[in-house]
Amino acid sequence: MRVTLRRPRLSDLRTRSALLAAGVGTAAVLGAGAAFAAETGTTAAKPVTATTSSAVAAQAQAQAKAAETKAAAKPAAAKPAAAATASTGWSKPVADYALSATYGNSGSMWASKHSGQDFAVPSGTPVKSVGPGTVVKAGPNGAGDGSAYGNAVVVKHGDVYSQYAHLSSVNVKVGQQVSGGEQIALSGNTGNSSGPHLHFEIRTTPDYGTAIDPISYLRSQGVTL
Ligand SMILES: [Zn+2]
Repeated sequence: MRVTLRRPRLSDLRTRSALLAAGVGTAAVLGAGAAFAAETGTTAAKPVTATTSSAVAAQAQAQAKAAETKAAAKPAAAKPAAAATASTGWSKPVADYALSATYGNSGSMWASKHSGQDFAVPSGTPVKSVGPGTVVKAGPNGAGDGSAYGNAVVVKHGDVYSQYAHLSSVNVKVGQQVSGGEQIALSGNTGNSSGPHLHFEIRTTPDYGTAIDPISYLRSQGVTL
């Protein structure tokens, strides 16, 4: 029977030790460099030791390589995610949704034409103010606009108003200041609603009957829908 003794792979151990030593050395050198820079109050203009610059160069190279690897790992077809909030400070009322009944639709659900845009979302979805403003209506019976809306909120944003209806819960009070993207309610199925969704309007006054196309308005504010 032949027995082979497994010897430790010295070459590996040596390499590891050398790397560890180099790591300590680099940290020490960088530390000294930082102290030097702090004392003189300048960094780039002052000459640095060869060891420090090579260490910095090595680090930069490693970072560049890491960035390259990261970029390469990204699928080429991936598009950058649309920003949640546009530079205007406006955003969508719900994060994930399917657009259902659109503004101006005719149907048995509405006495006249559909006055808003419906966002199909499960009940309990956080509803956010689409822009910065002040809450002017909040409560049951459409907050004064009629029981068909269920629990509702209206927010004033300068010269337009946003309205959110069929809510399961209202998280704001009249007079409250809200920022764009701030949660104001949870979606639901209250009032004259055929299933869980958010009914959303943009109005020119706080009241029913002054709605304009809400999707066009949000898009004009830089929101991607
Ligand atoms: Zn609706």
